[in-house]
Amino acid sequence: MVTNHKEIWRKCLEIIRDNTSEQSFATWFTPIVPVGFSNNVLTIQVPSQFFYEWLEEHYIDLLKKTIKKVLGTEGKLEYSITMDSNDPAYQMVIPGTNRNDVRNNTLGRPAPENLTERLINPFIIPGLRKMEIDSQLNENYSFDNFVEGNCNRLARSAGLAIAENPGKTAFNPLLIYSQTGLGKTHLCHAIGLHVKHKFPDKTVLYVQTEQFINQFVNASKNNNLNDFVHFYQMIDVLLIDDIQFLAKKTRTQETFFHIFNYLHQNGKQLVLTSDKLPVDLQDMEPRLLSRFKWGLTADLQMPDSATRAAILKNKLYTNGIVLPDEIIDYIANSVRTNIRELEGVLISLVAQSSLNKKAITIELTQQIIERFIRNSVKEVSVEYIMNVVCDFFSLPMELLSQPTRKHQVVQARQIAMFFAKKYSKASLAVIGQQCGNKDHATVHHACKTVSDRMDTDKQFRAMMAEIEKKILI
Ligand code: ADP
Ligand code: MG
Repeated sequence: MVTNHKEIWRKCLEIIRDNTSEQSFATWFTPIVPVGFSNNVLTIQVPSQFFYEWLEEHYIDLLKKTIKKVLGTEGKLEYSITMDSNDPAYQMVIPGTNRNDVRNNTLGRPAPENLTERLINPFIIPGLRKMEIDSQLNENYSFDNFVEGNCNRLARSAGLAIAENPGKTAFNPLLIYSQTGLGKTHLCHAIGLHVKHKFPDKTVLYVQTEQFINQFVNASKNNNLNDFVHFYQMIDVLLIDDIQFLAKKTRTQETFFHIFNYLHQNGKQLVLTSDKLPVDLQDMEPRLLSRFKWGLTADLQMPDSATRAAILKNKLYTNGIVLPDEIIDYIANSVRTNIRELEGVLISLVAQSSLNKKAITIELTQQIIERFIRNSVKEVSVEYIMNVVCDFFSLPMELLSQPTRKHQVVQARQIAMFFAKKYSKASLAVIGQQCGNKDHATVHHACKTVSDRMDTDKQFRAMMAEIEKKILI
């Protein structure tokens, strides 16, 4: 009988290889290192807790049969988990140790008894848990309230086709492209929700690229990239929003490339969105870019005014609000930038009319659109900001330009400078010149004083929020 753990594991691998796909074998079995054999117990080392759970969940029968074949009915398997988790419990287990070493681990802390229990012989661990992944989907963004029009017909129907048959259409990946505010995120969630509804067992995940990058950075820092990659490899439908943010992130791109390949090869669905066309995505690895083009690229355009009106009506209907058609058409005809702004105008209008108890008239609508459009292009002038701030403190505006050192004036001036820096396009020098003929260093100092005070003074912060609201209305 063979007693060398390496030899035993080699035999096991032969059997496993014959009974799994090459891909699974490479992913789940080649990283395993045999580390010991005694009393009929073979100890194998796996890279992470996640890895261990995955084996337990997907390969338990195969492992059981294999061990029985190689070691007989008395044979048992035990795991040692490589130290790669933040959880102190797992840091007890040192790579390359067997169970006894684990108990007397070199970190000098005794491993809790139940930890060792948990890692011993998976075959007797009851109730293996299925990983419950929160899909991060927003219920409000469904196909039901995604209004169809010429502007989105291809993307919408491709999305629906995918949602009906994830991974099984030619649209893999589906790359949704549009300028901002035209429905990319909405469509992503709609696809995810539809899949969840139709296939409750499928693992769906919506993730913003920025989140993905942060997770990658943290995983690299904490040395658990394995867990990170394995986590993403178990998703059936991965919706990743705003991939243009991957530009220049070479290492994240590389890891995403591997995840992409793995999912694609295994018939999983990928949906990507971008505010740039693949050809315009600079600083992106060519091999990754070429994959983005494997499936279908569908764009979303600005809807025509009839569709814009339909979107507004849909929004009103969902919120139980009734508005005259005349007003709806007026908004639909006037706001031609994007759907987010279209909705923004509607929300401001409804808010204004209920707060100020004003009837919703064409005049009010006009005013709101004017303000809204002005703010959205962020062309707030220094003078406008000074005006709002003086208004707030009931100070005559001329005071700000005079060389007075009165506390209230100094404070108003500093606040105006702060907001001018935040919301106007003027340089510090210009801001200084307009707010009392000061130089740029004074403006710089003012901004710092204000922001320091906001960090420490709750009341001041609340007041600043009030003023800001007035600037942005
Ligand atoms: P993007 O991700 O392209 O910047 P979003 O998906 O965030 O745009 O859409 C902006 C807003 O417009 C959201 O509130 C969304 O619900 C709405 N919207 C976009 N397209 C439609 C549509 N076809 N029907 C209804 N609402 C839409
Ligand atoms: Mg978006």
